[in-house]
Amino acid sequence: MIRYTQKTVAGIVSIAGVGLHSGKRAKVTLRPAEENTGYLFINKDINNPSEIPALFDKVIDTTLATTIGVDGVSVKTVEHLVSALRGLDIDNVIIEAEGGEVPIMDGSCAPFVYILKKIGFREQRRYKKFIMVSKVIEFRDGDKFVRIEPSKNFEIDFTIDFPHPAIGKQHIFFRFSPLSFERDIARARTFGFFRDVQYLKSKGLALGGSLENAIVLGEEGILNQEGLRYKDEFVRHKVLDLLGDIALLGYPVVGRIIAYKSGHHLNNMLCKELFENRKDFRVVEYLEETYLPMLSDNFVMTERQVL
Ligand SMILES: [Zn+2]
Repeated sequence: MIRYTQKTVAGIVSIAGVGLHSGKRAKVTLRPAEENTGYLFINKDINNPSEIPALFDKVIDTTLATTIGVDGVSVKTVEHLVSALRGLDIDNVIIEAEGGEVPIMDGSCAPFVYILKKIGFREQRRYKKFIMVSKVIEFRDGDKFVRIEPSKNFEIDFTIDFPHPAIGKQHIFFRFSPLSFERDIARARTFGFFRDVQYLKSKGLALGGSLENAIVLGEEGILNQEGLRYKDEFVRHKVLDLLGDIALLGYPVVGRIIAYKSGHHLNNMLCKELFENRKDFRVVEYLEETYLPMLSDNFVMTERQVL
């Protein structure tokens, strides 16, 4: 019998690189965690570090990247690592951060996917919990919006429209599975405009930002010699970001998200809106052996509400 249970990493693994904010060395160490832990960050630079759960209500800043914090202690740039964990369907991990942030690596999830697959996963005993959306919830800001609605799967429909010759209008529909995440989303890099990067650096921000960890856009086109990894890499990275932002709900989601020009801030507001309307979703476990959410279309409503 197949049981859809929680997963953790099978061993301890570290990855180091440059911090996007500081420009200095940053390192994270991932360790197995008990069931129902979620993603738990610990800032190892502090003597008595408090635990920082990667949850939407612990987000203290979304400029440049997502920062989470508790009691004045924070960890920056968590979104791509969290996206990789959710993307590979891992539920419980302890993440020790050195240097105050998660290294930016190449600006995508690919390096995190690589180490996570190398260390492997361990099935745990308890059932996996899901957030099942039962009503449409939307958050708007001018012409930008992000909306979640009921669906049998976890799906993301994303549209961006940047008035730049290398981007323009891009749209993608993504039905989540770990396989499609790894193949279609994980390698998409973050992007920024050269003039913005110059300005941020003059203000002492984004000191680690470079052609090594972002697609950098000039006035006419992209400045990276190696070109793009996907021809619509920009919108794919927006899906990668959204996946990480929505993972901060604490459970995988069953529902369809439709996003237009959305970003970290709007995605975070949607999470808050959702939790303010507790009657609009249920947290469930699936007991039916024929139903593997997000892995097949065999949708059988044998579920147990747990929250
Ligand atoms: Zn990003």
